[in-house]
Amino acid sequence: MDGLNLVRRGAAAVLAGAVFGGLSTLTPGAGQVALVAAPRPAPERPKGKPKPKPRPKPERKPPPDCSRVKCLALTFDDGPAASTGELLDILAARHVKATFFLVGENVVQLAELVRREHAAGHELGDHSYTHADLGSASKKTVLSELTRTQDAIRRAVGVTPVLLRPPYGSTSKQLAKISRTMGMAQVLWTVDPLDWAHRDSEYVEKRVLKSVKPGYVVLMHDIHPTTVKAVPRIVDRLASEGYVFVTVSELYGGRLVPGREYGQTGRTMRPGDDSGATQGLP
Ligand SMILES: [Zn+2]
Repeated sequence: MDGLNLVRRGAAAVLAGAVFGGLSTLTPGAGQVALVAAPRPAPERPKGKPKPKPRPKPERKPPPDCSRVKCLALTFDDGPAASTGELLDILAARHVKATFFLVGENVVQLAELVRREHAAGHELGDHSYTHADLGSASKKTVLSELTRTQDAIRRAVGVTPVLLRPPYGSTSKQLAKISRTMGMAQVLWTVDPLDWAHRDSEYVEKRVLKSVKPGYVVLMHDIHPTTVKAVPRIVDRLASEGYVFVTVSELYGGRLVPGREYGQTGRTMRPGDDSGATQGLP
């Protein structure tokens, strides 16, 4: 019997006693024994293995109502990378929530950053394992790219992503079908400051500020330090204009349909348009 059952039984015994006026027949000692779970001996840990750190609980506040306030979803692709830590500090200082579309092989390399993202309440999405062009890949490749990334994220934070951003925005009917089966909505974007091509913080800042509207999804890349440096000014300016920063799922009221595309740009980027090329990825 586990501790919870013991507690329940104990509580039931006390309740029954109270209802039938029989409390006096229970000695206080018996009641206490029933209510307190027996201490379990600590499991033996093999020597040399560090004690696993308890996972911090993500910050959770009720999301804003995006039909009433000016919501904006900042999204960061291709990480985690060395520059992600600084971005997380910037977002934390401003209580800003964002969405990270993660490349599976980077998740494996830098799992601690993924844990930080999750613990801070950011949303995590699947951006394939090797930054592959999923729109033109075989079914077998698509399944492998998406499943391995989902598994890596699940191993890092214990949560399975429900969002997919196809690298290069390259999608297909096949990808829609597979992402539906895997329970992931496809998230594209409505603002692209081309930060992968313009490694210039001021340029990125201007492009974002010029293009945003309430309900938009902004595409950026936390693998570029120039982008990370643009974020404080973007956030501070937009916050002063009344914008509220939400995750992608919050932006859509938590009602995204697996397989469906959200935040369409109206054009499909070609491989090489995205930052993957500069990462030496396809
Ligand atoms: Zn990408």
